[in-house]
Amino acid sequence: MTGEKAGKPLLLTNVKPMAFGGTKVAGVMDILVDADGRIAAFGPQLAAPGDVERIDGKGAWISPGWIDLHVHIWHGGTDISIRPSECGAERGVTTLVDAGSAGEANFHGFREYIIEASRERIKAFLNLGSIGLVACNRVPELRDIKDIDLDRILECYAENSEHIVGIKVRASHVITGSWGVTPVKLGKKIAKILRVPMMVHVGEPPALYDEVLEILGPGDVVTHCFNGKAGSSIMEDEDLYNLAERCAGEGIRLDIGHGGASFSFKVAEAAIKRGLLPYSISTDLHGHSMNFPVWDLATTMSKLLSVGMPFDKVVNAVTHAPASVIKLSMEKRLAVGERADFTIFDLVDADLEATDSNGDVSRLKKLFEPRYAVIGAEAITASRYVPRARKLVRHSHGYSWR
Ligand SMILES: [Zn+2]
Repeated sequence: MTGEKAGKPLLLTNVKPMAFGGTKVAGVMDILVDADGRIAAFGPQLAAPGDVERIDGKGAWISPGWIDLHVHIWHGGTDISIRPSECGAERGVTTLVDAGSAGEANFHGFREYIIEASRERIKAFLNLGSIGLVACNRVPELRDIKDIDLDRILECYAENSEHIVGIKVRASHVITGSWGVTPVKLGKKIAKILRVPMMVHVGEPPALYDEVLEILGPGDVVTHCFNGKAGSSIMEDEDLYNLAERCAGEGIRLDIGHGGASFSFKVAEAAIKRGLLPYSISTDLHGHSMNFPVWDLATTMSKLLSVGMPFDKVVNAVTHAPASVIKLSMEKRLAVGERADFTIFDLVDADLEATDSNGDVSRLKKLFEPRYAVIGAEAITASRYVPRARKLVRHSHGYSWR
């Protein structure tokens, strides 16, 4: 569903457009959206019909709707996923890309119960492993070749090509044991056959981040790019840094994928200082990362801003950049007749303590504050996630904070 409802037209007043690419607009303006969800007019102080729903943007920015390129939202089908509503429109995000929660064996459920039932636009990277993240890291999806069924992957893609944007491979020791880089090679082969990008998660070696980069090509995505794990950080090995920089120049997309274990302020700050920016900013939100330390996309964007990434580049990294990965057109996003898909947000002064995945703390002096997600003729009130008090939870390997 896409917010299609026979309601009222929507008038957004006092909004300041940014990141609309070719459509050059300046200053504060109004945008009128018809009851059918299409843009009817935009410009300063629009005259509007009497029965409109009126939203006063109070001078806030309006951009194309934010896209989170790495979330886990197969809620109920995997133990780790959250609901799309927990990281979508109410957080200012209009497009969610699930990064491999579903494999070919359970993608039909993901489509029926999540994609078709949500108001956000949902796309997915299909996990190379048949079972996806059913029992995440407890029953790993890529232990050996029996976990991959190439014929069924091709069949699943053929039936769901409008939803599947690529192949996801989690290439780290927790999942693949000593199998090393072979699953990445198989994933690349499938992605080539389907002519879609592959997203690879790098983490504890094997496989080595270096080996993964050697297999990827232009258009592919490496997520957790600025992780601070021993043996997988681009800042502890100059050869790896140089390789990552070269690959980024050649069109391999470095994606943040913050998550519970995969974003380091120190790595991000050092890389950005040397001129290596992430291509896209994503959260890797799931049940074990949301309450601590990720919270949401807006906070993750604020973290990147705090380590030196420029404001307009941060916004680009949640709009045009991920849109290009999932082949979502960003042309004419502010044009009469086009479907409304916007995020209204402010950048406010703040002094907020935020933590990365390594437990390092930084004080955020500027915060992205989403105000509304606009999906068709519907404006959904948005805000940042307010974390719950953390609890010490006992599990089979000991204790952890949740
Ligand atoms: Zn993930």
